[in-house]
Amino acid sequence: MKTNALLSDLAAITGEQHVHTGADLAARDPGFHPGNLGADLAVYPDTTEQVARIVTLCAAHKIPVVPQGGLTGLSGAASSDSDSLILGLRRMTKIEALDPRANTAIVQCGATLQSVEAAANEHGLSVGIDLGARGTATIGGMIATNAGGMEAFRNGSMRARVLGIEAVTATGAVLDDLTEVPKCNEGYDLKHLFCGAEGTLGIVTRAVLRLTPATTATTTLLIGVGDAAAALAITRACRAVPDAEVLQTEIMWRNYAVTVAAEIGLSHVLGFCDAPAYLLIELSAGDPDAALETLFGDPAVGAAMIDAVVAKNEKERAEIWRIREESFIVDNTVAHCQWYDISVPLGRIDDTITAIDTRLNALDPDLGIWVMGHLGDGNLHYTIGNGQPQPPARQAEIADAVYDGLKKTGGAFSAEHGIGTEKRASLAKYGDPEKLRLMRAIKHAFDPQGIMNPGKVL
Ligand SMILES: Cc1cc2nc3c(=O)[nH]c(=O)nc-3n(C[C@H](O)[C@H](O)[C@H](O)COP(=O)(O)OP(=O)(O)OC[C@H]3O[C@@H](n4cnc5c(N)ncnc54)[C@H](O)[C@@H]3O)c2cc1C
Repeated sequence: MKTNALLSDLAAITGEQHVHTGADLAARDPGFHPGNLGADLAVYPDTTEQVARIVTLCAAHKIPVVPQGGLTGLSGAASSDSDSLILGLRRMTKIEALDPRANTAIVQCGATLQSVEAAANEHGLSVGIDLGARGTATIGGMIATNAGGMEAFRNGSMRARVLGIEAVTATGAVLDDLTEVPKCNEGYDLKHLFCGAEGTLGIVTRAVLRLTPATTATTTLLIGVGDAAAALAITRACRAVPDAEVLQTEIMWRNYAVTVAAEIGLSHVLGFCDAPAYLLIELSAGDPDAALETLFGDPAVGAAMIDAVVAKNEKERAEIWRIREESFIVDNTVAHCQWYDISVPLGRIDDTITAIDTRLNALDPDLGIWVMGHLGDGNLHYTIGNGQPQPPARQAEIADAVYDGLKKTGGAFSAEHGIGTEKRASLAKYGDPEKLRLMRAIKHAFDPQGIMNPGKVL
């Protein structure tokens, strides 16, 4: 595939210095999936026109194209093999416009979440979405994975933040759907198909983002609770506090919190109580002291809370957040572990956790289970393992133990990290057959040659 003619065609589009092969490419950081740099060839354009020319070239030669942003995706969706061309978008970082009257930003796809957030903050605005990989994850990658994160319970996932997109489709044509208005009923809403498509329908080159007023946390609490129902009762009570807004509501079950805290030397942060679970809740309150007084005076909070600490300063706040955000420490500590990213309706979280525990225990009582998640939208992240490699059949049994019954409860086996390569078998098994048929038809309509990120999702 890597012919001299192809290399010189690519170099003619981007300049030779933006075409990478061999040792030069292998020396780069592969990001969060070891297979990301499996292709022997990568090209880094910086305009939509260059992306369109590259895809036109690939379409003519039937070369598979793997779009890549910040490489923080967790499902293998940006992995590439030796037949494919990596189309890296990290040079397309421009924030082209930011309109504080309309609360919108027009950005190129390679801009990181952090850079757009910083630009929005200058106008008292925010992207309205946040995740641990903020410094590296790109807007294009976040659209392609329909990223969720910690503010999705109040602002929606990425799909809800996108007003318009520009994309290069599999023929190299440019789809201009860069609307800047919340209301647009001009036929089928194609832009939303690109949200969560994981690069299989085309390459998002620019986007119009809907911004929200920026908020400032005034109060960070870590509260020991018995279960998710108690954490939700406290969250409800926080919402009822006058002149206060709940900005974050995250939950960590004990095994997760204790493991991460110990690994990063912050066990003392949990020293205030031995609880089955910990609620991390953050408020923006006009009068923080009055808000806390109201909250702790609420009998519902008294009944639901085991004990609580309030961060006294930024250092204590950062320590609490590190325990929640450094989740990859569990994955690094437990050899051969598997992770899951599920959604559960709020009223069914405790029952689901108990049912999953029971099924996993029946399978292998030595399996360790670490759970945390975004409480506000019922998104739970599981890490499971016993330190030993699991043969594929056992891996499938563990997946079944986590996913069984989720659909009946109204939940989802994939919440915010997408399907990529790692959850394809589960999509084939748990996806509704008619939905899968329509997805294949849509894929074929967008990409009849099957060159856009093949082997992912479907
Ligand atoms: C520490 C950490 C915390 C995280 N927390 C969260 C979280 O709370 N919530 C959450 O949802 N995710 C989270 N993630 C996952 C990850 O950050 C998101 O999936 C993110 O959206 C990926 O963006 P990226 O630019 O890194 O994309 P990449 O990893 O480069 O690519 C991901 C997918 O998007 C495609 N893609 C990339 N750019 C484009 C483009 N311009 N057009 C079309 N397709 C494209 C790729 O082909 C691939 O399919 C976390 C990851 C880490 C490492």
